[in-house]
Amino acid sequence: MTPIADRWDHVAELDVEGLRNAALTAAVTGDTLAALRDIDIALGTDLDGGDRGALLYARAVALQTDPDPARMVDDATAAVGLLKAAGRTSEAANAAAGAAIFTQRAGRIADAVDHAVEAMVLTAEAGTDRDAARASNSIAILFGQLSAFELAAMTAARAFDMAAELDDSTRAITADTFCYVVVEGLHGGVDLDAGPAIAAARWLAEQPIGDLAAQPVGPTALAEFALLGVLDADPLELAVAVRDDAATMSIRFSAWHQLVEAAAHRAAGDSAACVGLLDVALPALTGLGDEHRVVRGHRERGAARAALGDFAGAFDDARTEAAMARRNQIEQVGRLASQIQRRADLEVARAVLRRRADDLAHEVSTDSLTGVGSRRWFDLELARLTDRTGWGAVAIVDLDRFKRVNDGFGHHVGDRTLETVGRILRRAVRSGDVVGRLGGEEFAVLLAGTRLEAALLLAERIRLDIERAPWHEIQPGLTVTTSGGVAEGPLSSIREVLRAADAALYEAKRNGRNRVIAA
Ligand code: GH3
Ligand code: MG
Ligand code: MG
Repeated sequence: MTPIADRWDHVAELDVEGLRNAALTAAVTGDTLAALRDIDIALGTDLDGGDRGALLYARAVALQTDPDPARMVDDATAAVGLLKAAGRTSEAANAAAGAAIFTQRAGRIADAVDHAVEAMVLTAEAGTDRDAARASNSIAILFGQLSAFELAAMTAARAFDMAAELDDSTRAITADTFCYVVVEGLHGGVDLDAGPAIAAARWLAEQPIGDLAAQPVGPTALAEFALLGVLDADPLELAVAVRDDAATMSIRFSAWHQLVEAAAHRAAGDSAACVGLLDVALPALTGLGDEHRVVRGHRERGAARAALGDFAGAFDDARTEAAMARRNQIEQVGRLASQIQRRADLEVARAVLRRRADDLAHEVSTDSLTGVGSRRWFDLELARLTDRTGWGAVAIVDLDRFKRVNDGFGHHVGDRTLETVGRILRRAVRSGDVVGRLGGEEFAVLLAGTRLEAALLLAERIRLDIERAPWHEIQPGLTVTTSGGVAEGPLSSIREVLRAADAALYEAKRNGRNRVIAA
């Protein structure tokens, strides 16, 4: 084994993407130890929140075949918060979808619904990248597990289509899910069009052996469709051809393959082979919590045992199958899934409204020509300041002889001048300071917690910045100067301070312009 120090060096480069991929591969191959160790080492280093979130979710993914979902739930839930805060929306969507699946597996349906709704809302906000496709993919799996097969098939088809523009391993994962939900839906008696899913399985079967696409999933899925009678092929031949590859995969894949091969044997008349395979596969499927396949496994084995004359065994399987079907309360859960969809639609609509309201608020609070605060917003800020205790200052800036700019060069040049003055003002003040356009070519800055000297310095800097700006770039021969007035006083009477600054501005104009005067 590589000593930890070396591994640390390797991880110190912090290849977050590489670790995420390793986790995903580990989940497919079942070889999780190395991936988990690397992720834990990386999590022990100094990371930003987004990368920490990405790695926590990678750890949950690597752990996903672990029988105890509690750790995955914790990791995925923490990941959602961190990724959202870092603005990594599609990764957050993916993590929320994972959290939904893990909480559902932990039996916490209500929490799973919350996570699923959040995942769908985030997916609607995200673009069409790999993580968004995987988020849709996970939502499809959740719908499938909740027996909402129509929704599951629709969501899975969308994820598979989205992945067509992306990388092959994402396409492979979404193809697998698409086949899964359509097969289980058809077994559940739901009327679904198998054609597109069969095409996905064919695509998967044609992929070269190598990375994730090496899964013997394609042929196994084709065998499923053949067993269902929607594909004209020999299921046993398909299943046997990839048996050795399947045996090297994670428990999820190998147990599924055994289930399919078992069903193919029984269809071909070999009930003993069917029972033998299911004796191995059923405990594994049960451990994974894949209830649809567990139910199918018991149904297959019960029929095979009966054919072999083992009626006690057949009765056992039938009893287990019935108990599970009751526990699933399939219809009820399916309804729950449609509720998730409706709630997510509502949340998406609400998010759109909220964004529109934010846009509107921005529109009325910002002066569109200069980008500084509007008069309306400035007045609101002024009113807010009068409720505060403490000291403040005001600087008013007015362009000198601006009418001449308009008259001499045209209104268009006047507008571009005001635009530039707005930019200079915004750059000159700190982010918390209030800058507004009082009207025309007159601007004011409210400076809470600032004394007169500092306000005077700021106004003087603004005056110089404006005087020295490259006005000739807008119009040869254009020069722009400003006059300013500053005043200070208690915030509670900031309106009087504003009036005093205005009076000082008038003084500056009277004294020859292009200067700042303090009240
Ligand atoms: P003073 O030095 O005394 O301030 O002279 P002034 O010419 O700047 O003063 P006055 O207030 O008389 O004129 C302001 C001019 O600003 C009048 C108007 O044409 C122009 N103005 C106001 N708003 C806009 C605008 O949005 N775009 C343009 N291009 N001009 C504007
Ligand atoms: Mg003026
Ligand atoms: Mg004016």
